[in-house]
Amino acid sequence: LNVLLLGSGGREHALAWKISQSPLLEQLFIAPGNPGTGYHGQNVAINPLNFDEVKSFCVQNAIDMVIVGPEEPLVQGIHDSFLSDSNVKHIPVIGPQKLGAMLEGSKDFAKEFMFRHGIPTAQYKTFTAEQFNQAKDFLKTLNPPYVLKADGLAAGKGVVIVPSYDEACANLQEFFAGKFGAASQKVVIEEFLSGIELSVFVLTDGHSYIILPEAKDYKRIGEGDTGPNTGGMGAVSPVPFANQDFMKRVEERIVKPTINGLRNDAIPYKGFIFIGLMNVNGDPYVIEYNVRMGDPETEVVMPRIKSDLLAALLACSQNRLSEASIEVDSQTATTVIVVSGGYPNSYEKGKEIATPASIPSNAILFHAGTSISNGKLVTAGGRVFACSALGNSIDQALEKSYTLAKAIKFDKLYYRNDIGNDLKKLQNQ
Ligand code: ATP
Repeated sequence: LNVLLLGSGGREHALAWKISQSPLLEQLFIAPGNPGTGYHGQNVAINPLNFDEVKSFCVQNAIDMVIVGPEEPLVQGIHDSFLSDSNVKHIPVIGPQKLGAMLEGSKDFAKEFMFRHGIPTAQYKTFTAEQFNQAKDFLKTLNPPYVLKADGLAAGKGVVIVPSYDEACANLQEFFAGKFGAASQKVVIEEFLSGIELSVFVLTDGHSYIILPEAKDYKRIGEGDTGPNTGGMGAVSPVPFANQDFMKRVEERIVKPTINGLRNDAIPYKGFIFIGLMNVNGDPYVIEYNVRMGDPETEVVMPRIKSDLLAALLACSQNRLSEASIEVDSQTATTVIVVSGGYPNSYEKGKEIATPASIPSNAILFHAGTSISNGKLVTAGGRVFACSALGNSIDQALEKSYTLAKAIKFDKLYYRNDIGNDLKKLQNQ
């Protein structure tokens, strides 16, 4: 198979690493990719949001499958664009069409979907600017802290959780005044759920599904989960509290009703579903759906998949997922994200990078925000590397992840030193 993978982050490096191991693969292209994906295939300088260029490339290079890494091309309708173009409509795209992508692209759409199909989630109401007074009245019916969410995509910054009613009203006003443009014209206000978060990943062809390894990510920049949210500072898989009983509840109460809901609503869906969950005293509640794999979770999920992912994706594209399965490594995978100092606020790019002289066995250095400038590897983003490793325990895996992180050198680099600490306590119970 000739495969085109879209995206350029650590997630895409992890996907490229995994797919490149498939005996089914002839050629792998990554658009635009990063210096890390270049080890596993050929990077091509195409913007994934330029659908015409993506489609021409597919025709010229006899592409057999397109795998979409990030959400934006999906939310903007790349899959629909393929289906409506006779030159490329035969090429399967892994990732939902625009309608399915609304599960991530509109929080109101996702909440309506969950309520329609009896999927456990926080109570909520959605308001527009004209309904400011009703929104304030609704806030009064809730207990603090208050959760406000811009309806549309806001690069992970569209959610605020504030302790007081006054702050909630002030934020509401900012949202309606256009803080996130069209994305915050509608605001979802929801009940606060208290518990531990978990990311569950499902691959579906719209009928059958495979549950991939689950993971926990660390969103805040600071140790002890402090400071602003980031794209993710680390991840661990498996998650000790996600035992068989809990995962059975997730499957019965969330995964099955989600897949059945898609079918009942006639929402075609081939691709990954990333379910952000809250474990509330042993009961799973959906916080959000994403319509692609997570980053940095992919950097711990891929190392744990022992079987051929491309074979599963091919089965998915051919509506034969029921015949496919995946074999999961029982070892623990961890990843530690090395970032540019200052991230998630402003930071400098173009810092020269020294990478580790050797990589421990069972460890992988995934590139995220790197690029080549004048023949040298330099920083090109906030999240620069994902240091992933496998081990027999969280401690063993982390030791290798941190060995890698410590061996990376560039000016003002930063990483959290406490990834997985909370889970180690659970693992030892
Ligand atoms: P992401 O960057 O994960 O895609 P997002 O902008 O799509 O984020 P959500 O995942 O819905 O937004 O919310 C961001 C974070 O806010 C969640 O990971 C969770 O920690 C917290 N959160 C969201 N909803 C709730 C809730 N109802 N109760 C408690 N915490 C919540």
